[in-house]
Amino acid sequence: MPYIDKLSALCREYECEIKTDEPLKNHTTFRIGGNCRAMVYVNSAESLLAFLSFLKTENIRYFVLGRGSNIIAADEGFDGVILKIGRDFSEIRLLNETDIFCTAGASLMDVCLFALENSLEGIEFAYGIPGTCGGALFMNAGAYGGEVKDIIKSAHYIDSTGKICEIQPEEMSLSYRHSLFAEHTDYVITDMIFSLKKGEQSDIKAKMDDLMERRRTKQPLEFPSAGSTFKRPEGSYASLLIEQCGLKGLSVGGAQVSTKHSGFVVNTGSATCGDVLELTEKVSRIVKEKTGFELELEPLLLK
Ligand SMILES: Cc1cc2nc3c(=O)[nH]c(=O)nc-3n(C[C@H](O)[C@H](O)[C@H](O)COP(=O)(O)OP(=O)(O)OC[C@H]3O[C@@H](n4cnc5c(N)ncnc54)[C@H](O)[C@@H]3O)c2cc1C
Repeated sequence: MPYIDKLSALCREYECEIKTDEPLKNHTTFRIGGNCRAMVYVNSAESLLAFLSFLKTENIRYFVLGRGSNIIAADEGFDGVILKIGRDFSEIRLLNETDIFCTAGASLMDVCLFALENSLEGIEFAYGIPGTCGGALFMNAGAYGGEVKDIIKSAHYIDSTGKICEIQPEEMSLSYRHSLFAEHTDYVITDMIFSLKKGEQSDIKAKMDDLMERRRTKQPLEFPSAGSTFKRPEGSYASLLIEQCGLKGLSVGGAQVSTKHSGFVVNTGSATCGDVLELTEKVSRIVKEKTGFELELEPLLLK
C-alpha cells in the first residue's frame, strides 16, 4: 500500500485532517513555496507520537511546521510530510494564579490576549509576533527587550526515541533566536508553561497597544514576509547596515528590500523562493564588501 494511504488511515484513526499536494505558500506568511506531498494537522501529543513513529519506521521525510512565519519554503515544495502543529492543537489554560499552560500549536498572540484577560504581565513583548508557541520556543522569539527565555517555566517535547520528556529553562540553551530545539530538529515540542506576574490590566493593555502601534508604523505589515530577514549581527543592526549600503528598495523579481523597513525582505506579489534567496545573497555580499559585517538569514529554509 502506498505510504499516503497508510498515513490517511492513521489520520482517520486519530481524527486528524490530512491534505495531499498542499501548496506551502498557503502555510507560510511569506506566501512562498511549492507543494508538499501531504500535510497532517496534528491534534494531540498522542497523534503526534503515532505520526512520528510511522514516518520514522517507513523512512519518510517530514518537517514540523507551526504558523510558517519564520520559513522560506522552496519553489519545488517538499517531497515528504508536513506535520502542521497549529489550530487543531492549541489549548490555552490557567494553571494557577500566574502560570499559563499551552500546547505547541497555540498562537502566541492568543496567549498574550489570554494573559491580558487574566491581568498577567510579562508577555506583552510578544504581542505582534505571529506564530505558534512551539515555533516561539524553538526560535526563542523576542522583541522590544523581551524574549521567550524570560517567561518560560518548563516544556514537554518528544525526543528522537519517541519518549515524552520534560525540560527546564536552564537545559534549553536559550540565546538570541536560538534554542536546544534548533540543535535537535528531531525533537518536537508538545506543550509549555509560561510564568507571568499579576499586573494592572489597563497598564498591560496600554503596553500591548503601544508595541502593536510601533510595529504598524515601522514594519511593512501590508506585504507578506517572514519578519526580520537577517539576524542582528554583533555590534550593529542589519537594517542600519543595509540602509547605509543604499540597498533599501533593491528587488529581484517579486522580492524587495522593504522601502519602509530595510530589515525586511517582502513579497510584493509574485516572489519565488529563488528571488528571495538571490536578493538576500546579493544584500549579504554587498554588506560584507562595504562594511565587513556578515549577515545571517533568520528565517529557515524548508526544502
Ligand atoms: C510580520 C512578522 C513579524 C515578526 N516579528 C518577530 C519578532 O518581533 N520577533 C521574533 O523573534 N520573530 C518575529 N517574527 C518571526 C516569527 O514570527 C517567529 O520566529 C515565530 O516564533 C515563529 O513561529 P512559527 O509557529 O511561525 O514557526 P515556524 O515558522 O512554523 O517554524 C519555525 C521553526 O520552528 C520549528 N517548530 C515549529 N513548531 C515546532 C514544534 N512544536 N516543535 C519543534 N519545532 C517546531 C519549525 O520546524 C521551524 O524550524 C516575525 C515574523 C513576521 C512575519
